[in-house]
Amino acid sequence: TTQSDSNLPALLKSALDHMIIPIVSQSEIATNGLSIYARGEGCRLWTEDNREYLDMLGSPTRANTLGYGNQEIAKAVYDQLVNVHFVGTAANTTEPAIRLAEKLSEILPGDLSRIFFVSTGSEAVEGALKLAKQYHQAKGKKPRAYKVISRWNAYHGATMGCLSVTDWLPVRNIPDPRVPGNSFIPSPTRYRNPFGVTDEVWAEMCATYLEKQIELEGPENIAAFIGEPIMQAHGVQIPTQNYWRRVREICTKHDILLICDEVITGFGRTGTWFASEQFGIVPDIITMAKAMSAGYVPAGAVATRPEIADAIPMYRNVHTYSGHAGAMAASLKVIEIKEREELLSKARNNGVYLQEALRSALGSSPIVGEVRGIGHWHAIDFTSDKSTKAPFEDETVKAVMNAMHEMGVLVTAIGHSIEMSPPLIASREELDKAVEVAAAAIDEVS
Ligand code: PLP
Repeated sequence: TTQSDSNLPALLKSALDHMIIPIVSQSEIATNGLSIYARGEGCRLWTEDNREYLDMLGSPTRANTLGYGNQEIAKAVYDQLVNVHFVGTAANTTEPAIRLAEKLSEILPGDLSRIFFVSTGSEAVEGALKLAKQYHQAKGKKPRAYKVISRWNAYHGATMGCLSVTDWLPVRNIPDPRVPGNSFIPSPTRYRNPFGVTDEVWAEMCATYLEKQIELEGPENIAAFIGEPIMQAHGVQIPTQNYWRRVREICTKHDILLICDEVITGFGRTGTWFASEQFGIVPDIITMAKAMSAGYVPAGAVATRPEIADAIPMYRNVHTYSGHAGAMAASLKVIEIKEREELLSKARNNGVYLQEALRSALGSSPIVGEVRGIGHWHAIDFTSDKSTKAPFEDETVKAVMNAMHEMGVLVTAIGHSIEMSPPLIASREELDKAVEVAAAAIDEVS
């Protein structure tokens, strides 16, 4: 028995006695317990009781795009912390914050060159919504614009403002979590949609719905439209090329700011720094977090165009840890590593490789409806009937996830799909292993 083995029962008891564990029901915890991790290296993780896992998710948050135990990032943070760790916000800052803002301006699409730092994705979204509303207020053409249009199945974070534009019941189903004025329109899901039309027609209908909703609510009341360029719900929903171009045109026509929430897509997961690039659009505001610091310390940001930043005499928003020097140092190092190791072009090539491997290993399974994805982000969408594309109950998808966990590979069940987002450092051998285990798990469940 190792030291960590003998610690485990006491640690588990302590966790259950003293922690509030979110997004998992109490009964699920009672049945499955908790995974308590002791150490990680590259894409591998070891639990307290020494079970080894291949993390093909980048942790359940998808933040860990550079794997575990990266000494270079840890050292950059350490060096910064012992030099000057934090000086507050407002008119106080540090050199790494300025350098990071400069670097982000270089890698962001178009002229998005004004940056506000935060610590989480939810803070980034809150900051973006406030920025949009303050812009219209200051510009004066529609000073009372306060409404925001979002989409079915959107996830934009867990704070009250973010919940108001989020359509995910596990976080939303609490008494009255909404800021008034927000509405939801259909999202251009792939593979299945309510009318059984083609993906192209459905995307066109979703864009048309946006214009109709703007007319209904009155463009003078609407500050922004918010969407994830590639939606996570039910697994990597890559819209048709035309969708975002149409949305961009409609927002411009009605003077509505387009916010692309890139908290999950940013920093290379899809093979480009930001996923909006893939659709040839430049949003007015981009939110980012997660992979920005590869999970080493909390970091996030909101980026906008100079015209929008300059219109606001004073940005009315602040968080204690905006621009924390350690977070800035981590994010600078993360970008440097991704550039030096050419991880974005690797992600593009690996994406094609992984998609082909998954399709050839799983395509003939009677319960796999579609495999889709891009870069290091893929979904296996399950169906009980390939002709109707009827989704399975969540339980079946969870059974596949649990079987993969049993076989030592971490992925997640997200609605109708299994989602994989391997760290960008994952090797071809590790990707092959994930495909092999997915095939074995699906075999076992079907
Ligand atoms: N926006 C998107 C698209 C996300 O995926 C998430 C987190 O999953 C958030 C916002 C919220 O980020 P955080 O959990 O860091 O507050």
